[in-house]
Parts: sequence; C-alpha cells; structure tokens
Amino acid sequence: MPKLTFKGGVHPRDNKEYTCMKEIRELEQPEFLVFPVSQHIGAPCEPLVKKGDRVYRGTKIADSPAFVSAPIHSSVSGTVTAIEPRPVPSGQTVNSIVVQNDFTDELDPSIKPLDYTTVKPDDIPALVREAGVVGMGGATFPTHVKLSPAPDKKIDTVIVNGAECEPYLSSDHRVMLETPEELILGLKIILYRFGITNGHIAIEENKADAIALLEGQCAREGITVDTLKKKYPQGGEKQLIYAVTKRKVPLGGLPADVGVVVVNVDTCTAIARRFMYGLPLTRRIVTLVGGAIADPCNYRVRIGTQVDYIIEKTGGFAVEPKKVIMGGPMMGQAQFRLDVPIIKGSSAILCLTEKEAELPEEGPCIRCGRCVDHCPMGLMPLYISQFSRMEDYESCEKYNITACIECGCCSFECPAKRHLVQDIRRGKQEVMGIIRARQAAQKEGK
Ligand code: SF4
Ligand code: SF4
Repeated sequence: MPKLTFKGGVHPRDNKEYTCMKEIRELEQPEFLVFPVSQHIGAPCEPLVKKGDRVYRGTKIADSPAFVSAPIHSSVSGTVTAIEPRPVPSGQTVNSIVVQNDFTDELDPSIKPLDYTTVKPDDIPALVREAGVVGMGGATFPTHVKLSPAPDKKIDTVIVNGAECEPYLSSDHRVMLETPEELILGLKIILYRFGITNGHIAIEENKADAIALLEGQCAREGITVDTLKKKYPQGGEKQLIYAVTKRKVPLGGLPADVGVVVVNVDTCTAIARRFMYGLPLTRRIVTLVGGAIADPCNYRVRIGTQVDYIIEKTGGFAVEPKKVIMGGPMMGQAQFRLDVPIIKGSSAILCLTEKEAELPEEGPCIRCGRCVDHCPMGLMPLYISQFSRMEDYESCEKYNITACIECGCCSFECPAKRHLVQDIRRGKQEVMGIIRARQAAQKEGK
C-alpha cells in the first residue's frame, strides 16, 4: 500500500527509541494532587467542592454551564485541603482544587459501566462530556463538541490520529500496542454516534508493530488501518485529513466542514473507558524522556500529579536539565518550574541536556524560500515573521497568520536559523486579540 502524506513538512530525527519498546509503567500515587479548574479549551469550570469535603476517585469536582468546557474529576479518593491559585504548565496561575490522597482508591458510587448500544446515538456527546473527555494530543478541545457538529455538517468519516509525529513522544504508540481493544471500542462508539461505518486508524510507518497488530484486529470490525509516511507534522488535523481522504479543510475551517472528525488515540480510549468501566478521565499516559532523564519510559499517571514528583519517583535526573518542556520539542511548552501538575493535555515531560537544548545563533534571511516550501499550511513564514517583528499586524492578518499551526517546520528548515515560529506565535496572539476586539465591537454595534 502507498504511504499517505501531505505537502510540505520536515523530517526531524524521531528519537522514539528511548521509550517506544518499553511497556507503560504505573506511577505510584502521590499524597497531594492539584486539579486546575481549566484544563481545556473553552470556559473554565467552577469548583463543586469546598475545603474539607471528601471525594472519591471519579467524583466530579468542578464544572461549567458553558457548552465549550469539560468537567474535572478527582483522580484519587481523599479530602479537599485547599482551593487556591496554583501554577500550571502554560505558565499561568489557575484556581486549583488540592486533594490529599487517602490511598484507598475508593470509586465514586455513581460510576457504572454502560453498554453504548443501549444509548441513543444523540445522547453519546452528553455522556462523553460528563466524563470530562477532551483532546489528549495536547489541543484539549472538548470532545463532546466535536461529536456535536452543526446540523448542516454531515460527518461521514472518523479518523483516529495515531501519527504521533512529534519527536521523542511514544505514549500513543504504547497505548495502541497495549490496549488495542479500548482504542477500537472508542472508535466504534464514535461511529455509532454518527450512524456511519467509515472508521480509520492512521499510523506513521515508524510504528510497524502497532500497524500489524491493529490491522489484524480491525479487519473483522470493518475499520481501515492507514499507513502514513513518517513526516512532521503528519498528526496535524488538516494534514492528517488530507493524507487519509484527500479532502482539504478550508483556511479558518474545521474538519467537520469536510465531513470528518479526528480524535487522538488516548482520547478514543478515554471514551471507551467511560462505557466499559463508567470511568471519567482521571489518568493519562505521559512520556518521560530526554537526555537528562535517568530512566526514560511511559507512565500511567493520575491527572493532578506534579511533575517534580514524577521525576523524583522515576529515578530522577541523570544530569541537570538545561530545558524542561511539556510536550514534544516542536510544539511543547518550556517550563520555568516543576511544581506544576499533569493536566489532561500533558503528553510528555521532555528534559533536555545543555547540548540537546542548544539554540543556534540567528543569521540574516537569505531569501532561500525553504520556509515557504516546507510550511504545511502553505503560508509565507519569512514575510509573516518580519511583519510580526515590525508590529505590522494588519499585514500579518492579510498573510493569514491565524492559519499558522505553530508546527515549527519553518524554523527547523531555515538555514539562517531564524526564530520564525516564535515571531509568528507572538504576532498571532496580537492578531487574535485584534480580531476578538473587532468582533466584540461589531456585536455591540448591532
Ligand atoms: S508558518 Fe506556522 S504553519 Fe507554517 S511552518 Fe511556520 S509554524 Fe508551521
Ligand atoms: S528559510 Fe530562513 S533564510 Fe530562507 S527564506 Fe525563510 S527565513 Fe529566509
């Protein structure tokens, strides 16, 4: 079969060999867990508990009436000891619920398995919302919103994103190998929600063992396993949709505009566990890796566990890290402190040595055009970054800065080592602010 791909992109060294052959390990539970009330795109939640309350594993502790939001559940049983602002991986400080673990791991009495075939398809999104499921590839977009497209958007294809194209990351790879039945069930539930049969699991060619395993298991389910070319950012939603279906999501559009829903591997298993065991989203798989880590591996971690605890419990640092990133090296967020909790979108803790973290000196642009050739969104990074530096946001908008997916391909390919993605990210934030203000003013004018 030909390997599927998209136009543009780059080929960084994937560095997956440090963890991809090792089985997922269960991380010991910590004594204190921290649950920020905002772990998703959309409205933050409000606490439903107060200091001194007893909670169970799976108790809903925060929620919001907003549609684009997702509730938060305690990942352990214990007592609420504080509700206070705490640092989170984005660098912000967010109101957080602190729970002291009683280590009994008692389940909330409301938790019960549910046969999805006994539920009306239209009721699936509300059940997924109630379980707090969001995109676990890092985007943290509430999954029930994806499962509730506008009535004029007819979904005919569901793709499970098994590309995991970011270097170093291997948590999705291990999930595909170790819990394929959960993955397949999650996909079947989504297909059932839309009343369709066209399901795909799309995997990069560097995970040949997962492709072989899932091909065997999916044949009898009528699900297609697609082999993707190893290229970054193959797991970008638009790039993946094009690779699998040859449909192009318009600039500023959504996958539903071309009849597709894309879900991450672990998001899919979270949906399955909601029905198999009645469990809300309270744990995730985290890749702990990088030259500074003594024993790199994937860990099953309770959401709310702090990063410094994880590092200490898993063998600590081999050498002092120069840089710690939550997520992969291309799109992850650099951390300035390690007392931040694992949240729903935390796919990896990448601890880089001085050599690994080295940032080359910037030189002048030589107008070679490589950043343009490799941009998977068809943008002109050299101009956009320049406009951003000049604070010319009108031109940034004209050159579609908001379509940038911040993949970093332009910076990666630039022979002058220009810090293109940093400039573009800054400019994009400004332009988004301008657009929001314009929309608010238009609304008020009506
Ligand atoms: S401009 Fe944006 S989308 Fe294009 S390569 Fe650079 S970071 Fe990626
Ligand atoms: S790749 Fe770098 S040097 Fe080449 S045109 Fe783009 S910004 Fe300029």
